[in-house]
Amino acid sequence: AAKLAGKNRIRFFEPKMQAEVDLRHHVQSKLRQAIASGGLKLWYQPKVCAASGNTVGCEALVRWCSDEGQFIPPSEFIPIAEQTGLINQLGNVVFQLAAQQASRWHAEGINPSIAVNVSAHQMRNPRFVEHLMLMLEQAGAKAEWFELEITEHAMMDDTEYAASMIDKLSSVGFRVAIDDFGTGFSSLSYLKDFRIQTLKIDLSFVHDMIRSPQSNAVVRSIISLGRGLGLTVVAEGVETMEQASLLSEAGCTLMQGYYFAKPMPPEEYAKWLRATSSGKQMNTVTS
Ligand code: C2E
Ligand code: MG
Ligand code: MG
Ligand code: MG
Repeated sequence: AAKLAGKNRIRFFEPKMQAEVDLRHHVQSKLRQAIASGGLKLWYQPKVCAASGNTVGCEALVRWCSDEGQFIPPSEFIPIAEQTGLINQLGNVVFQLAAQQASRWHAEGINPSIAVNVSAHQMRNPRFVEHLMLMLEQAGAKAEWFELEITEHAMMDDTEYAASMIDKLSSVGFRVAIDDFGTGFSSLSYLKDFRIQTLKIDLSFVHDMIRSPQSNAVVRSIISLGRGLGLTVVAEGVETMEQASLLSEAGCTLMQGYYFAKPMPPEEYAKWLRATSSGKQMNTVTS
């Protein structure tokens, strides 16, 4: 009976595992193709100042629409890209696209501030900063237009190395943000050693802050910690007016989320900027 159960177990799991391997393989080769042939696009989500309501910049989020017209979310392909090493090429394409976009916006008198997500794997390349500088030069863009979002998890991999990489990045003019803050269990004493400008509160806390006193306390603590260290604090995943007003009352600097706007193609973001006071300000400055 035991032998039979064992056999059954093997027969039960084998096709599933094979299917998973096949799927991963399929996604990997399609993704490699998409990276090489311009199949990746960037969408942009506004970051809104809590005090003025002005849009001060945006976050670039990668979008992949397969040849079959199917939208594949980053949560599905970023992990595969990271496991297969494709993340370095993907990261380069993303940064190139962002640099070209910022350069165009700057030429059109549109605020070129863009936050770009960076994976831990990209940072591990000792020539990471040089590569970024080269791509900036090719696009005619400036480091000062960019904030690089690095997850708290990525920083905690090797804090000493991360700190030295962040030093290099800020020396050449990039701002650096810690993304998904509050989920990586970092020792808070590291914060003062990183030359960062921004903390992004993970959206899970923002989602729960109305019904969970614990999440509310976490959000408030991150805001006062960040402000105390002289940092910009961004809340991500703001979906309701109630969340937005609680966050502004607590002193949060910037907000980002569906309540304000979803990520959108670049032309739409430019329209969004024109329709908000920050966009008007930019236009009057340049015209
Ligand atoms: P993230 O950097 O923390 O980005 C925030 C995610 O929350 C984005 O999901 C965004 O679309 C989503 N979001 C924004 N506002 C709301 C809201 O109000 N409610 C909810 N429920 N979600 C909201 P997205 O675009 O699917 O990206 C997921 C993650 O994939 C990102 O998390 C980031 O870690 C990664 N990612 C996206 N683009 C890139 C990229 O170009 N490079 C790298 N390395 N990672 C990227
Ligand atoms: Mg991010
Ligand atoms: Mg985040
Ligand atoms: Mg995230």
